[in-house]
Amino acid sequence: MKKMTRQAVFRKLGALYERMASVYADTSAKIGLSCEGCEENCCTSYFQHHTYVEWTYLWQGLNQLPEDKRNEYIQRSEDYVRNAKAMMENGMRPKIMCPLNDDGLCGVYKHRLMICRMHGVVNTLRQPNGRQLSFPGCFKCQDLTKEMENVPVVDRTPLYKELVGLEMGLLGNKIRTLPKVDLTLAEMIVMGPPNLNG
Ligand code: SF4
Ligand code: SF4
Repeated sequence: MKKMTRQAVFRKLGALYERMASVYADTSAKIGLSCEGCEENCCTSYFQHHTYVEWTYLWQGLNQLPEDKRNEYIQRSEDYVRNAKAMMENGMRPKIMCPLNDDGLCGVYKHRLMICRMHGVVNTLRQPNGRQLSFPGCFKCQDLTKEMENVPVVDRTPLYKELVGLEMGLLGNKIRTLPKVDLTLAEMIVMGPPNLNG
């Protein structure tokens, strides 16, 4: 894909995120899954994210916030990174509330990342090497689907392919030289917006 302006990439990413939300809403409705009153907020899940385009867009959202709010999130992210490192050094998988979660509400709702949008329902992803990955959905989804026939499954592959296309559109030829992204959301916040000139 040809290099695109940042504005065009963001517009397309916003539209892609809307489509993810609509696929998610259809699927969760079929399962009967609702986050309302959920006793386990999944924003404590530990994930890495892998694209510059989502990292850049996340920062566009953060930069729209009042400075003191943004600084609060940065401070919480620093705590998160430190605590997650300590847990991993003790052989535990971190389970810490996302630094952007304010009493159950996402502080960057429109700019939240793909995994945040897909986690709840059963979904699959075919990687470029042909490997098929399956995700069972959240604990509530697993409970609701355990005796269900023909469980609705979201195939994340076409959505992910579009995301990769936008990554290429944002980075152009630099996609070959920039280091791979493998960061938690907290790390993306602590590091600041990505430097795309590398
Ligand atoms: S996706 Fe699942 S675990 Fe997360 S808040 Fe919704 S119901 Fe709860
Ligand atoms: S970015 Fe928002 S939706 Fe994603 S884990 Fe953090 S608070 Fe939850």
